[in-house]
Amino acid sequence: MSDYMFMLESHLTASQFQVVNAVQAAAADTNVSVFLSGGAMRDVLGGYPVRDLDFVIEGLPKTFAKLLEKKLHGEVVASDERKKSIAMRFPGNVTAEFAMAKVEKYGRAGSKPQIIPATIHEDLRGRDFTINAIALSLNKASRGLLLDPTNGLADLERREMQTAYSYALYDDPARILRMWRFSVRMNFPLSERTRGQYANVKESGQHLKISNEILGPELLRMAGEGNPAELLRILDEEKILPLFSPALTGAKVNLAGMQKLMKARTHIPFEIGFEANQPSLFLYLLTQKLTPKEKTALIKNMSIDKATVNSWQQLEAKSKKLEKELKSPLLKKPSLIYKALRHAAGDQVVFLLMNSSERQVQERIKNYLQKFVGIVQETTDAEVSEATKIAPEASKFAKAKEEYLAKKLDAKPKKLPEPELEAVPTIPVPQQPMGRGTGRVVAARS
Ligand code: ATP
Ligand code: MG
Repeated sequence: MSDYMFMLESHLTASQFQVVNAVQAAAADTNVSVFLSGGAMRDVLGGYPVRDLDFVIEGLPKTFAKLLEKKLHGEVVASDERKKSIAMRFPGNVTAEFAMAKVEKYGRAGSKPQIIPATIHEDLRGRDFTINAIALSLNKASRGLLLDPTNGLADLERREMQTAYSYALYDDPARILRMWRFSVRMNFPLSERTRGQYANVKESGQHLKISNEILGPELLRMAGEGNPAELLRILDEEKILPLFSPALTGAKVNLAGMQKLMKARTHIPFEIGFEANQPSLFLYLLTQKLTPKEKTALIKNMSIDKATVNSWQQLEAKSKKLEKELKSPLLKKPSLIYKALRHAAGDQVVFLLMNSSERQVQERIKNYLQKFVGIVQETTDAEVSEATKIAPEASKFAKAKEEYLAKKLDAKPKKLPEPELEAVPTIPVPQQPMGRGTGRVVAARS
C-alpha cells in the first residue's frame, strides 16, 4: 500500500473510507479514472478533519453515481448539469461530490466560464488555491500516486494561501470569499504573490462583481466555520461585507455577537458530535443589528432557502419557549433534563447558552452537554442486555434501555475512597517538576 493510501485509511472515518473503497471498485468496474481531490486531500495531508469527499472523474459522474446509489445506498442530494457534478450522501453521514475533470474558460472576468472536459492535470491547474489542487489516484495501475502540479504540498507545509494560477482571483472573484474563509479556518496568511494579485483585483473593482447566486451559499458556508468572528472582522476590514447587505458596515457589524457564539461553543465537547454551527444562529447574529427592512432585503438578495429563513426568524421565540421548559421545577433528575433536551434543536440550545440569564437553565444545559450525553453515548446495547437480561432484538429492549439509561443518569456519582493520609506538614511546600523551573521555592498562597 502506498504511504498516501495508508494515510487516507488512518485519517478518514470508517464510513468515509468505505465510500472511498466502493469508488475504487466502481472505477475498476467501469474503467474510468477517478481521483480523490480538493478539500479532502488538503485535509488528509494537512491533518485536519475531512468534511466531505471530493472525487474527480475523467468522464461523466452520472453512471458512477448510479452505481454507488445501488452499492452503498447513497442518495443524490444535488446535481449541477452545467458543471457536471453530483453531490451525494451516504450512510454514516458521509457527504461526497463527484465532478467531471474539466477546464473553465473565462471570457469577461466575473462572467460564467465555458466548461470543457479535461484531464485531471488540466483540472488541477485551473483550481482556486494550490492547497486545493492536489489529487490522489484511485485507479488500479496508479493507486496511491499523488498529483500535485501546482506544488500545494509545499504551501501546506509553509502554511500559506497561494492561488493555483495568476488570474485565479480575477477570473472568478468569488474565490476571494473562499480565500478568506480558508485563510481564517486554517490560520494560513496569504502568500506575498497572492497578496499582490488580490491588490490588483481590488484596484480593478473586480472583487465587487460576485453574483448573488454565489453570495447566498457562501454566506451559509461561513456559518459552518469555527471562527466566524475573525472571518467577519476581515470581510468588514476588506469592505466585502456590504456585498451581502449594504447595511452591514460600522456598528452594525455584530462582532461581539459572533465572539459570544464562539464562547458558547467552548462549552460543547467536540466528541459528542453536537451540531452547533447552524446557519440560523449565524444569520441571527449577522443581522441582529439590522432593521427589519434591511433583513428582508438581505433575504431577498441572497435567495436563502425558506427552511433556513424560518428557523432563523423563529429562533428567539422558540429558544424562549425552551428556556421556560428548562426552568420547570419538575426537572429534578438528570434523566428528566436529558429527556427535555435530547430532541431540542441545536441552535436553540446554543442560543440559550449565549443569552439565558437563568443560572439554572445554564447549569442544566451544561450538565446535559458535558455529562449526560456522554453517559448515554458510551452505553452499549451489550451493557444494557447484560444488565437487563433482555436481548437487543427483543421488542421490549427499547423500553428496557430507556429505563436502564434513566437509572444510570440518576445514579449518584460514586465517591472515590479517601486516601490514607500521612502526617501533612502545616505549611505546604509546592513541588517543582523535575528538570523544570528555576528550583526556587515559591511561597504558597493561602
Ligand atoms: P470544504 O472543506 O469547505 O468542503 P473544499 O476545498 O473541499 O472545502 P468545496 O467547495 O467542497 O471546497 O470544493 C471542492 C474543491 O473544488 C475545492 O477544494 C477546489 O479545488 C475546487 N473549487 C471549488 N470552488 C472553486 C472555485 N470557485 N474555483 C476553483 N476551484 C474551486
Ligand atoms: Mg469539500
